[in-house]
Amino acid sequence: MDLNKALENILPQNRIKGRLIDRYAFASDAGSYYMVPQVVVQPDTIEEIKSLFAFSSDNKIPMTFRAAGTSLCGQGVTDGMLVDLSRHWRHIVVEDGGFRLRVEPAVIGGHANLILKRFGRKIGPDPASINAAMMGGILSNNSSGMCCGVHHNSYHTVSAVKFVLPNGMVFSTENKEDYTRFQKEAKDISDGLLTLRNEILQNDDLIQKIRRKYRQKTLQDTVSTHSLIMKIHLIYSPIC
Ligand SMILES: Cc1cc2nc3c(=O)[nH]c(=O)nc-3n(C[C@H](O)[C@H](O)[C@H](O)COP(=O)(O)OP(=O)(O)OC[C@H]3O[C@@H](n4cnc5c(N)ncnc54)[C@H](O)[C@@H]3O)c2cc1C
Repeated sequence: MDLNKALENILPQNRIKGRLIDRYAFASDAGSYYMVPQVVVQPDTIEEIKSLFAFSSDNKIPMTFRAAGTSLCGQGVTDGMLVDLSRHWRHIVVEDGGFRLRVEPAVIGGHANLILKRFGRKIGPDPASINAAMMGGILSNNSSGMCCGVHHNSYHTVSAVKFVLPNGMVFSTENKEDYTRFQKEAKDISDGLLTLRNEILQNDDLIQKIRRKYRQKTLQDTVSTHSLIMKIHLIYSPIC
């Protein structure tokens, strides 16, 4: 299959990077891993993301997202289809007088802080890479940093996430009705999550272990979702 031609049904040609030079340029991120993607795509709408998920599943080509590519553990490299979000997805809105920030995944952390500065606030996570790292990557890695510790890491300061499932369904944790819709329309995932939850709740040792682990900082708090979900708008609860 001519991958570039096939993808032209989804994206304009200038957002499909299939030349050898492009593929090699995207083969590594800040980590030490190296994988040459078959193609790099730069979607800029949810509809395009949905179509890419369908394309990936129909053609059995794995899909990996990349924001700024500053990860160190190989999360942002692939020999499948690399979805580069860094060129688009930069919308940012301050809400509640600086107490919340609505961002798309390619907003750079340092830029978010610059916008919040006039309100005397900043986002919780403060990775040393903050002037390059983007909010999609910061959340997916559950980034923390030197000062924020565990209390103000990404997980603990996110208010809501809008995400696209690989089957094309879109949910937002901001909408109460989406919780029931998720249980009905994404029943397999919902049931699977609830089963896991119940298993954990019946195992006291496991509960303590998870609580202990979540109180500790690791070198890089890598709990990456890879291509499982696509975060579109993150609503942050900035801290002083
Ligand atoms: C010099 C340096 C210092 C660093 N210091 C720290 C530190 O102090 N603390 C710390 O925690 N980390 C640190 N890091 C690691 C890294 O910079 C951070 O984890 C950063 O938050 C990653 O952001 P990114 O935009 O580069 O994400 P990427 O590397 O591009 O992506 C990270 C992960 O998120 C996924 N992803 C990205 N966007 C989306 C999306 N929209 N939907 C679904 N998945 C998505 C990717 O597939 C990947 O798995 C450092 C790295 C460097 C190079």
